[in-house]
Amino acid sequence: MANTEFTPSRTPAGTRNPLDEILVIHHLKRCYFVRLRCAKHGEIRMALAEAATQRRCPLCRSLCDAELLGFGGTTRPLPFWSVRQGVQALEAPGVRND
Ligand SMILES: [Zn+2]
Repeated sequence: MANTEFTPSRTPAGTRNPLDEILVIHHLKRCYFVRLRCAKHGEIRMALAEAATQRRCPLCRSLCDAELLGFGGTTRPLPFWSVRQGVQALEAPGVRND
């Protein structure tokens, strides 16, 4: 049975990037790192499954502006978060600190 038909195995070029390849290889979930500014709790960093411009504070549920810091991959369940003082858990590849 000859296979004479060639069909591309991937979606059109440009829809994949090196990060996607790394995520697949290492079985990571894509996540977005954002910085919330809560009037009550100060700076909180969160890792989300999708980018967001606003997000509720995980402590007091007030709506905060969310600033996108970067994105990367994680094996942890999303979302997870940390207040600024204990931010080490969020220091992962892809996070940029200004
Ligand atoms: Zn809060």
